Amino acid sequence: MNRRQFLGWGCLGAAAPLAGGRAAASEASGAASDNARGVLVDTTECVGCRKCEWACNREHHLTDEPLESYEDTSVFEQARRMDTAAYTVVNRFDNARNPERPIFMKVQCMHCVKPACVSACLVGALRKQDAGAVTYEGWKCIGCRYCMVACPFEVPAYEYDNALTPLVRKCSLCFERTQREGESPACVAMCPPMALTFGRRSDLLALAREKIAAHPDRYIDHVYGEHEAGGTSWLYLAERSFATLGFPTIGDAPVQELAETIQHSVFKFGLPPLMVLGALGLFMKAFDEAGKDAVRKPAASGEESAV
Ligand code: SF4
Ligand code: SF4
Ligand code: SF4
Repeated sequence: MNRRQFLGWGCLGAAAPLAGGRAAASEASGAASDNARGVLVDTTECVGCRKCEWACNREHHLTDEPLESYEDTSVFEQARRMDTAAYTVVNRFDNARNPERPIFMKVQCMHCVKPACVSACLVGALRKQDAGAVTYEGWKCIGCRYCMVACPFEVPAYEYDNALTPLVRKCSLCFERTQREGESPACVAMCPPMALTFGRRSDLLALAREKIAAHPDRYIDHVYGEHEAGGTSWLYLAERSFATLGFPTIGDAPVQELAETIQHSVFKFGLPPLMVLGALGLFMKAFDEAGKDAVRKPAASGEESAV
């Protein structure tokens, strides 16, 4: 049964909780596998060329524009968020210590070690792979958008403009591409100054610690993603507080409680799922519009959230 048939038969309410909620929740638990890979972003190396954006868009058939069109730096005048047409974006932040060299932050799905989106998904459309990626199977998705509510980084985007077969969109950590021997994600392969390093998460953490120890004047003593939200596959080094670079301040505990509350509400109280979905749809639409309004404001200071 594909998603369109599923919706068409009008059995959304009854089938969604039964289809895989418990399986989805169990897939989200468990420690990072030894095989888990990720990316270390050294933001002190990033020059804001946006070639990673182009490489991602081309890899995922989101653009047919030439690379030169990404040399337009006027996009940095507003902080941007990921959306259905861009799984990654680079934002610019003022650098008071060195005005000639602003700070650039590439953002995308963080591929959490214990992803709340996976826990929230009632039908197992999102899955944490042993290799580290959090992948999505559109044919399973019922469009409930619980994943959007659950994600602490506000990553998943929804195709509101696609009335018949809307999908959730986000970075896949180039899962299919990286299954091939020797291949790295498209954005990593493209990055000219090699600000992005693909590898085993444990190796990346060791590399990050080495860099901090070797250059304490260059980096703050914080690897973002080592512990946040239970750990993420994308890890970041920076020269100043991540809170001033648009990254949310999140505790070390996995953000699965909200996700599990959503599921438990459906299971325990037998909430009519169509009622939940309708209310959630209105909420998410308003949330999405509010988010777009927020990022339309110019990034006049380093305090603006861009994630
Ligand atoms: S950042 Fe959000 S969408 Fe990505 S894995 Fe984590 S919870 Fe899921
Ligand atoms: S890992 Fe792949 S999908 Fe994710 S931002 Fe990079 S190129 Fe895009
Ligand atoms: S390609 Fe590399 S240097 Fe250029 S914007 Fe992306 S991360 Fe920064």
